[in-house]
Amino acid sequence: MPTLNPDTHACIGAGICTNTAPTVFDLDESGLVRLRTVDVDPSDVEATEAAIAICPAQALAWAHS
Ligand code: SF4
Repeated sequence: MPTLNPDTHACIGAGICTNTAPTVFDLDESGLVRLRTVDVDPSDVEATEAAIAICPAQALAWAHS
């Protein structure tokens, strides 16, 4: 299962990821990204890829082993 390793400190709180992949990304009380999971279900990979590509802060990434 693909695993996320985002740089949440880079997040600027635009919220685009939560709209693009709401089952993977959430926003915390400060309006910054919070992961719902680091292990992304295969059915959510396409939406997660879209969120990674569109994040204006380039804060989202897959973990590379
Ligand atoms: S799209 Fe990027 S900048 Fe916006 S909330 Fe998500 S991680 Fe943060």
